[in-house]
Amino acid sequence: MTELIYLKDSYLREADAKVMEVLDAGVVLDRTIFYPRGGGQPSDRGKLVVGDSIYEVTEVVKDSGKVIHIIPDQKPDVGDIARAVIDWELRYAHMRHHTALHIISGAVYHLYGSDVQITGSQIYRDRARMDISLESLNKEKAAEIIELANKIVGEGRDVVYRFVSREEALAMSGLIRVRPDLIPNEPVLRIVEIAGFDAQLDGGTHVKNTREVGSIKLAKLENKGKRNRRLEIILE
Ligand SMILES: [Zn+2]
Repeated sequence: MTELIYLKDSYLREADAKVMEVLDAGVVLDRTIFYPRGGGQPSDRGKLVVGDSIYEVTEVVKDSGKVIHIIPDQKPDVGDIARAVIDWELRYAHMRHHTALHIISGAVYHLYGSDVQITGSQIYRDRARMDISLESLNKEKAAEIIELANKIVGEGRDVVYRFVSREEALAMSGLIRVRPDLIPNEPVLRIVEIAGFDAQLDGGTHVKNTREVGSIKLAKLENKGKRNRRLEIILE
């Protein structure tokens, strides 16, 4: 099993890792700072450096429990020690947009209560969107959500990671707003907390203080089905 370093430290841009397995598509490492696509966050990109050789990592995916670093051309060998380097500009953009979505979902919860469901989200380098099951969501309400979110950004709240057992997560199911039957059956889970405002069960990467998000702007509000409304945001 690859150690997922990015779960503990989202800010690590470089780290050494050992090549454990070479597949047709890419390689498996003993530890990784690369985020594999999932949970609405795109994968990292970057490179593995072994001596004078540079291997471009174009995408990273999770497949049957393995984190596969996709390398289109020639691959390093099993046992090689590689310097892993991620495309930090891309990663940091994902971290800021991802954290913005947490703040917005917290704002939705604070304004409209726990019966409102977040039904999907997608993060990009330059924008992010969230689908909310709230039929009455209109421009005015969206503006209120964004206003509260920007207030939280401006307060400079800490964003902290907490590792809990499945039992602890079950006991927190109200707080983290996950139906108990949807809590993954894994021994250790990670809670992402925006101090005093929001807590979610989540495996993505985030900034460590809300101020790093910058100013959230509503870019678009669309109807997606009878109850679903899609909020798209950009950051400035
Ligand atoms: Zn997250």
